Amino acid sequence: MTFAVKRGTAIGSGTENHDLALTGTDWALVLDGANPPAGADVGCSHGVGWIVERLGAHLSEGLHEGEAALAAVLREAIHATVADHGPGCDTTHPRSPGATAALARRAADHLEWLVLGDAAVLFEDTTGRVAVATDDRVHELPEPLEAAAGLEAFIAQYRNKPGGAWFAGAVPEAADHAFTGRQPVAELRRILLCTNGITRLTERYDYRAADLMTLATTNRGPAALIDAVRGAELTDPDPERWSGKRHDDATVVLVDLH
Ligand SMILES: [Zn+2]
Repeated sequence: MTFAVKRGTAIGSGTENHDLALTGTDWALVLDGANPPAGADVGCSHGVGWIVERLGAHLSEGLHEGEAALAAVLREAIHATVADHGPGCDTTHPRSPGATAALARRAADHLEWLVLGDAAVLFEDTTGRVAVATDDRVHELPEPLEAAAGLEAFIAQYRNKPGGAWFAGAVPEAADHAFTGRQPVAELRRILLCTNGITRLTERYDYRAADLMTLATTNRGPAALIDAVRGAELTDPDPERWSGKRHDDATVVLVDLH
């Protein structure tokens, strides 16, 4: 059995793509760096692109070694990323840059997965049914504009804090709050890892999870998903109803397990 991957990524409305997809012989990951508002103090001059690159490098190392549980691999990667900052960096800043993450690794007869933040893993089983693992906590917070004490206090209360939403970046403990699971490889056909630039298709545009898997397995592969989300965004009759960028960075890794 193999761990055959196809991947694709596309920049959104920004000037740099802060998504990252990496794969190894028996693992795959996607990261989605969260951009702070322009000009916001984040405690440090390292940008979100740097954080994503450092996290990706440390995660690759940990996944390549292949022994520790995925949450432990992520915790160690965050710890090492924090250590990569310089002495002038305040990584305790509530806005210290971070990323959402989806990881998958094959370990003997099982497929292990982890999600933190609203990246997703889709699982197609051998009957063709598609299930989704994601972390919606960031969408379940109160509206920040209702925070009486202001936005910065809101972020300090909810970002990487119990009862809030967790991201990979400056707080190793975040890894302990990731959602994880494992299932027998024999029950799965393929999996799809994607950033929230792709899951707009199900969040906003009435695609079902199974539709995403179908698109990804056409001849165009992951590019078909990127085309679909860009097409939906461009033909959206009322794009102003959504918060965030018109087009988000969008990244997909399709893993065929057999
Ligand atoms: Zn720094």
